[in-house]
Amino acid sequence: MSSLFPALSPAPSGARAGRPALRFGERSLTYAELAAAAGASAGRIGSAGRVAVWATPAMETAVAVVAALLAGVSAVPLNPKSGDKELAHILSDSGPSLVLAPPGAELPPALGTLERVDVDVDARGPVPEERADDGDPALVVYTSGTTGPPKGAVIPRRALSSTLDALADAWQWTGEDVLVQGLPLFHVHGLVLGILGPLRRGGSVRHLGRFSTEGAARELNGGATMLFGVPTMYHRIAETLPGDPELTKALAGARLLVSGSAALPVHDHERIAAATGRRVVERYGMTETLMNTSVRADGEPRAGAVGVPLPGVELRLVEEDGTPIAALDGESVGEIQVRGPNLFTEYLNRPDATAAAFTEDGFFRTGDMAVRDPDGYVRIVGRKATDLIKSGGYKIGAGEIENALLEHPAVREAAVTGEPDPDLGERIVAWIVPADPAAPPALETLADHVAGRLAPHKRPRVVRHVEALPRNDMGKIMKRALTHG
Ligand code: ATP
Ligand code: MG
Repeated sequence: MSSLFPALSPAPSGARAGRPALRFGERSLTYAELAAAAGASAGRIGSAGRVAVWATPAMETAVAVVAALLAGVSAVPLNPKSGDKELAHILSDSGPSLVLAPPGAELPPALGTLERVDVDVDARGPVPEERADDGDPALVVYTSGTTGPPKGAVIPRRALSSTLDALADAWQWTGEDVLVQGLPLFHVHGLVLGILGPLRRGGSVRHLGRFSTEGAARELNGGATMLFGVPTMYHRIAETLPGDPELTKALAGARLLVSGSAALPVHDHERIAAATGRRVVERYGMTETLMNTSVRADGEPRAGAVGVPLPGVELRLVEEDGTPIAALDGESVGEIQVRGPNLFTEYLNRPDATAAAFTEDGFFRTGDMAVRDPDGYVRIVGRKATDLIKSGGYKIGAGEIENALLEHPAVREAAVTGEPDPDLGERIVAWIVPADPAAPPALETLADHVAGRLAPHKRPRVVRHVEALPRNDMGKIMKRALTHG
């Protein structure tokens, strides 16, 4: 039994009490205020086994989750943009006894039967002593649903503390750091890394409510030291940097710029580096495993690489038959498997899926395919389910072709998939959002461009021009929606 938030419980006193903890827009809470506000909410949770949290990007969400964790109750963050059907599924699957919500938030019919507790961030109550065990569930987080219907991953308290401490080691992350972020709070990126992370360190976070390049620039120029974002945010930064001296100064002066949740396109990484002299650090994680690898703060960030296993994380690449790949040759592709204190316990009510996800020796099968470079850096080539194209006897990762396509000036966005082909098995299809809709790039142009950078068998055989790529709330490309209509 150990405390998740030593800076909050026991109740902060002395200099620590007045330190800033959270800021959302105009509203902020010191450590003493947050502890007392969470204490007040914890008092209203009582002996509930599990609570749902209406996870808007607001102060109430952070207070509600901290309250639940201090009370030793597990929390299910709900995406307020989910449809009624998805919410109904999550509620019947996870069975919370009440929902914590911001006062005034309108809750949809699916939540109608749940007792509602309004989170009052100005209320003050005694701070509970953390009594839960390390193996007790802390959060039930639903996966992003990129490859299938979202599954509820049960995340134990041990996984939160171990992943956040491993990141502190890798990123030299301390209580002096001030994080700025504008991520949604119903996935682990925004909630675990972006809220619980700073609070575990005794540092502070400024949440933008909604990400904007102006907001990020303002905070980084006003004392924030770190930025966490998803690739679509760094893409907007890369697009905005030319001609924006404020943003350029902000990024150049930041201690750490971190990207995750999906691959950061090489083109965006390089443009940011060229404009600011700073390289974005990539880390790789999942709902089920929290964080697995990262480029370290004292390491060498490079485009397309997610760094090395975090302290405590065992990582291996395996071939289809389970044989481990020892080679650090930057070429041998295998599935990433991980083991460590960062892992989830189970998929809720899915013993079949849980069993299938683990090997006999307790490694989690991530479904992500990667190679390792000579210095041990992991480079993800794509997901087994959607990004591995079997064409002409080759196994081809969609990611490197997407990166090559994105370097072409006529391409704004790109996604690569495979589709059945009588000769090749599968043929490579490039889904392109043209930079100029009036002048979409021709197949020949793109195929030659790719063949000039990669092996000839990686050239697209089909190009489909689209107005936009289907993306979820984390900016991930939903390839199933592309290929299935
Ligand atoms: P579902 O499991 O429901 O299909 P999902 O896998 O997208 O959805 P998450 O748990 O939110 O749900 O995302 C984890 C996945 O995100 C990883 O398995 C990996 O494919 C991808 N990912 C995360 N970080 C990175 C990164 N830095 N580079 C490449 N891919 C990443
Ligand atoms: Mg997944």
